[in-house]
Amino acid sequence: LAVRLAELSQLPAETTDGVRIQLNANIEFPHETVACIDRGADGIGLYRTEFLYLSSDDEPSEEDHYQAYSEVVQKMDGRPVVIRTLDLGADKMGRGNMAHRENNPFLGLRSIRLSLRNLDVFRPQLRAVLRAAVHGDVRVMFPLITTINELRQARMLLNVVAEDLQESGLPYRSDLPVGMMVEVPAAVMMLEHFASEVDFFSIGTNDLAQYTLAVDRSNEYVADLYQSSDPAVLRLIQHSIDVAAKSQTPVSVCGEMSSNPGRALLLLGMGVRNLSVPPSALPRVKKVIRNVSIDQCKAIAERVMKLEAARDVDLYLLDRLSDLA
Ligand code: PEP
Ligand code: MG
Repeated sequence: LAVRLAELSQLPAETTDGVRIQLNANIEFPHETVACIDRGADGIGLYRTEFLYLSSDDEPSEEDHYQAYSEVVQKMDGRPVVIRTLDLGADKMGRGNMAHRENNPFLGLRSIRLSLRNLDVFRPQLRAVLRAAVHGDVRVMFPLITTINELRQARMLLNVVAEDLQESGLPYRSDLPVGMMVEVPAAVMMLEHFASEVDFFSIGTNDLAQYTLAVDRSNEYVADLYQSSDPAVLRLIQHSIDVAAKSQTPVSVCGEMSSNPGRALLLLGMGVRNLSVPPSALPRVKKVIRNVSIDQCKAIAERVMKLEAARDVDLYLLDRLSDLA
C-alpha cells in the first residue's frame, strides 16, 4: 500500500473523464510543506498563520512572520500559496490585546474583526506577506469577512502597507491576488457584491456550518447538531459556487468538508474544481477523484440536493462511495 500511495502522489488529481482538479493542502506550520510535497499537493490552499502565535510565548515580529512565510513559499517552489491573515479569537487565543474573554466568543471579537481593531499587530503581518510574495506565487486571504466594509478596510490597509514598504526600500510585491473566506451566511447572501472586489473566494465550511445552524462548533453538548452536510448548509455552498461561476471568480473549498471522500465528490458535482485538505487527507481525496467522472458527481449532487436531512445526505454518499470502490 505504501508503494501505491507513493505512486499516487505523482499522478494528477484528475477525474476519469479528464477534468483536472486543483488539490491543495491546508497547513499550520512551515514544516508541514514537506508532507505536502511528498503527497503531491498542487499548492497550499490555506496557510493558517495564527499558529505562529499559538506556538510562541512572545508576540511574533514582522521578521518572524516573514521568515515563516518565506520558508513555506520557497519550499513550495512556484506552486500557489494562499496565506490567510490572522484568525485569532474564539477558540484560538492570541497574546496581549489579542487575548480577551467573551460570553459568546464565536459571535464576538474574532478573526478579521480583531485584526482590524489591532493594527499594530495586523500591519506587520501584512508587510511580511507582501515581502514574502517576492519568493513565489503568494495570494493573501482575509478570514470571516461579513460585510463589504470590512473587506474594503482590510484592502485599504494592504495598500497603505504597500506604500510604506515602497518608502522603506525593502523588496516586496503588491500585485498579488486578494481573496476572502466565505464562511458567514451574510457574506454568502451578498456574494455578488463581494465578487467585484476580490480575486478569489474560499468557502470555509467549518464556520459556515456553525453560523448557519447556530451551533458552536466547539461545544460538545451540541456536537450531533453540527453537520456540514446539512441541506441548508449545502444550499449556501451551492449559491456561493453559482455566484462565483457567474462572476468568473475562482472558488475553492478549504473547510474539513472537502477532506471527506463522499462530500468531496458532492462538491465536485456542485461545480467546485479546487479543494484544499489537510496533508494527511491528500491521498484519499486524490484517490476518489481519480475514480469518478464529473457526470457521476453531478448525478450525486442532483440527488443530494433533494434530500432533507444531513443524515440522509451522509448515508447516500456512503452508499455511492461503496459502489465506486
Ligand atoms: C473554515 O471555517 O472552514 C476554515 C477553513 O477555517 P478555520 O477552520 O480555520 O476556522
Ligand atoms: Mg473559519
